[in-house]
Amino acid sequence: MLDPEEKALRPRRLEEFIGDRPFLRNLRVFLEAARQRGEPLDHTLFYGPPGLGKTTLANIIAQEMGRRLFTASGPALQRPADLAGLLTQLDHGDVLFIDEIHRLHPSVEEYLYTAMEDYRLDIVLDSGPHARTLQLPLRPFTLVGATTRLGLLTAPLVARFGITIHVEYYTQEELQQIALRSSRILGINLTEAGAEAIARRSRGTPRTANRLLRRIRDFAQVEGVKVITGEFAEKVLTHLQIDPAGLEEIDKKLLLILIDRFGGGPTGLQTLAVAVGEESETLEEVYEPYLIMEGFLERTPRGRRALPRAYVHLGRPLRGVQSSLFG
Ligand code: ADP
Repeated sequence: MLDPEEKALRPRRLEEFIGDRPFLRNLRVFLEAARQRGEPLDHTLFYGPPGLGKTTLANIIAQEMGRRLFTASGPALQRPADLAGLLTQLDHGDVLFIDEIHRLHPSVEEYLYTAMEDYRLDIVLDSGPHARTLQLPLRPFTLVGATTRLGLLTAPLVARFGITIHVEYYTQEELQQIALRSSRILGINLTEAGAEAIARRSRGTPRTANRLLRRIRDFAQVEGVKVITGEFAEKVLTHLQIDPAGLEEIDKKLLLILIDRFGGGPTGLQTLAVAVGEESETLEEVYEPYLIMEGFLERTPRGRRALPRAYVHLGRPLRGVQSSLFG
């Protein structure tokens, strides 16, 4: 559950959602068109790494449509009855948000097909020769799904979403704006430079920017510091051992294994996944995008390769790397 502060930081309307993305303009049109027709918004799927605003967008959709939001998560919907219990509560236009939708049980997922397509639940009663199907009508609703792992969704499920949106990492500039917005809401005196220091270490992720801001606020409070400057933010972040480029333990492990064990690559995704001890889809969809965006790693036809920035950042000698990369 969200604590009240976290809740206060979550944008409630589309115009509060920071970032100038083409999908926001499209979503605005889809919402307006649905409202004019008096219909629910088409089922919408958000995919992308954690902490980038998928849940926030589900909330915004319900808010903009003036309807209620019901929230569930894939692993919590264990049985078809759990899903039926939720769907039958929905009024016309309500929004059902299913987080981690790639983790839905296959039997639950199958019920979702007719629910999404025809607003109907087909419940099979009895089994064998006496099997009958009970059709339970539902009121038209919007399903909003979120996943960090698009590759794990089945094709029939993906096909039933009318709108599919890729939520991507934020730029430094956007993260800086998010940190400043959050500081205003929390009544923290944060300078532009302070926000910039936070943005640099937030791994492209708004949730991280908010978390770092709150940790720095703790230090400022205890030390009696009234204004969070760039210098103060840097001091605290270094003290907290937050990686200056925003890398997490697993990012560093992946790069170090690639450099130390595989001579920097190219190394196949599967091999790398086994060495790191993660599923290959997780590496590909959750960790690699940021490393690629930031120029630590590249995908080549022959596998993953560590780039010079990774060597420099992790204190590994660059000798020979340039020539093998660019020669
Ligand atoms: P996800 O569901 O993708 O894991 P959330 O929607 O929970 O991510 O976002 C995490 C937090 O980051 C939100 O509570 C919100 O405070 C902040 N956030 C995310 N996206 C934005 C944005 N575009 N503008 C401002 N704050 C954002």
